[in-house]
Amino acid sequence: MTQTHVPVIAIHGGAGTISAATTSPEQAQAYHDALNQIVAAAQAVLLKGASALDAACLAVEMLEECPLFNAGHGAVFTHDETHELDAAVMNGATLAAGAIAGVCHVRRPVRAARAVLEDGAHVLLAGAGAEAFAREHGLEMVEPSFFSTEARRQQLYRVRDTGRVVTDHDGASMTATAATSAAAAAPLDEDRKMGTVGAVALDMHGHLAAATSTGGMTNKRVGRIGDSPLIGAGTYADDRTAAVSCTGSGEMFIRVAAAYDVCARMAYGGATLEAATHAVVQQSLPAIGGTGGLIAVDRHGNLSLAFNTEGMYRGHARGNEAPQTAIFA
Ligand code: ASP
Repeated sequence: MTQTHVPVIAIHGGAGTISAATTSPEQAQAYHDALNQIVAAAQAVLLKGASALDAACLAVEMLEECPLFNAGHGAVFTHDETHELDAAVMNGATLAAGAIAGVCHVRRPVRAARAVLEDGAHVLLAGAGAEAFAREHGLEMVEPSFFSTEARRQQLYRVRDTGRVVTDHDGASMTATAATSAAAAAPLDEDRKMGTVGAVALDMHGHLAAATSTGGMTNKRVGRIGDSPLIGAGTYADDRTAAVSCTGSGEMFIRVAAAYDVCARMAYGGATLEAATHAVVQQSLPAIGGTGGLIAVDRHGNLSLAFNTEGMYRGHARGNEAPQTAIFA
């Protein structure tokens, strides 16, 4: 197997504002450690020749299983105190894509999205049909309570009282007095954080892939679907341009077709990855009140980890270089 490209992996664990609570170095370190470990795992498989799709799915699966992030175990609650999880994956080599929305029994939603991609008949399955599909494909199913954490429940109670869906980082303050220590300890304010997880990768064969998984927004209406599982909005990959995974106020990312817009600016306008992500994150999204960020890698291995919030949990690694992780700007 000839190595023609230096593989690149990048991940995110959501964007948001700096926590009102004082973050101790130990607390921040827990996030850095989790991000580091996940980047390293994906990097290791890429260096062994794995596909970008496999590496991106592995990273997202590990992020789903980590309760620090709002996907899988640790997902946020809907207004009705339930969970509805969304996920998507896309293969830049073939433009094949798979996504699921509004599931509450699939342990690793990204695996279900991957199964939809492999199956090939459809791109997006929602609700009971998506769950039946996951079951038929032998994926692990769990009780919805598997996803619940006390920190997320308290977060819902605080937010529900305000009648708002948490999409506004700059909105009215919500005191976190009832926060559990875990929530209060997070470097980003748990009440004003987009906790979606995602990964983008370039493999040594020159192929790109993106994967995204989320519990959505705290206090969202039952049935609401965000940008994450919508191909072109929260997730997109095309070998000719870039792989993109977004996190933020989903409705705005849908309205500007954020992930696809990055690729379109490169394809039609000849923009660099940096210029394309800057235009989307710092101009198109803020113009309609959109907050959040995205991670993107292009076919040359350029990386962009862009956000218009105070921070975004993120990490990346190139070739066999040591993984780098960051939370704030
Ligand atoms: N974009 C996600 C959604 O709207 C939320 C997030 O990024 O945390 O569902």
